[in-house]
Amino acid sequence: MVALDGPSGTGKTTVARKLAERLSAGYLDTGAMYRVVTLAVLRAGADIADPVAVAAVAADAVFTIGTTPVRPRVTLAGADVAAEIRGPEVNHAVSPVSAVPAVRELLVARQRRIIDAVLAEVGGIVVEGRDIGTVVTPDAPLKVFLTASPEIRAARRNAQDTAAGRDSTHADALESVGRRDRLDSSRAASPLRAAEDAVHLDTSELEIDQVLVALTELASH
Ligand code: C5P
Repeated sequence: MVALDGPSGTGKTTVARKLAERLSAGYLDTGAMYRVVTLAVLRAGADIADPVAVAAVAADAVFTIGTTPVRPRVTLAGADVAAEIRGPEVNHAVSPVSAVPAVRELLVARQRRIIDAVLAEVGGIVVEGRDIGTVVTPDAPLKVFLTASPEIRAARRNAQDTAAGRDSTHADALESVGRRDRLDSSRAASPLRAAEDAVHLDTSELEIDQVLVALTELASH
């Protein structure tokens, strides 16, 4: 199992999926789980600043998350929401929702169940997020913490948004990425940080394929 953590725009999702494919392993995008719960909170009209209301919606949300690296499906109340969870409303609300301890407890427990099931079925899994190496699976044999400069991360996020047909500018992306990083790093519950035994990889100057080569090498030891 590979635990892949780091802020957004480091190439984490692309690399995690390609690595899982290469290793014939399963894949779990824990960020998508926080995003789908955030979408449920927004749809319910709950106040994202009210932890009790947010926790109640999270507890009732009926969602599924795919574990195949190629086009993993995400559904909420039976409908595909893979595109909607990447939209600006969810981008804006996901950090406050993720900071609610009851939401984290619920999702971490579910993540551990999914990981166990995939390991039993497929034998391997690449899990990406913010607290995988520190909280979800601190015993993972390989933990990697990806970083990149804020400018590069914003440029990548902007390119992704534009490719997905969303209105976006570099300045918007820089603001959004920076805001989420600040919130994710400063929250009391499981703040974004590298595990002590994580391998650090700065992807600022690297192409995705170079990151993939480095990770495949690490995973094969
Ligand atoms: O990885 P992604 O950008 O999709 O994550 C969206 C948000 O979900 C992050 O900004 C963070 O607030 C939250 N998250 C988290 N813990 C994880 C994965 C994501 O708090 N393991």
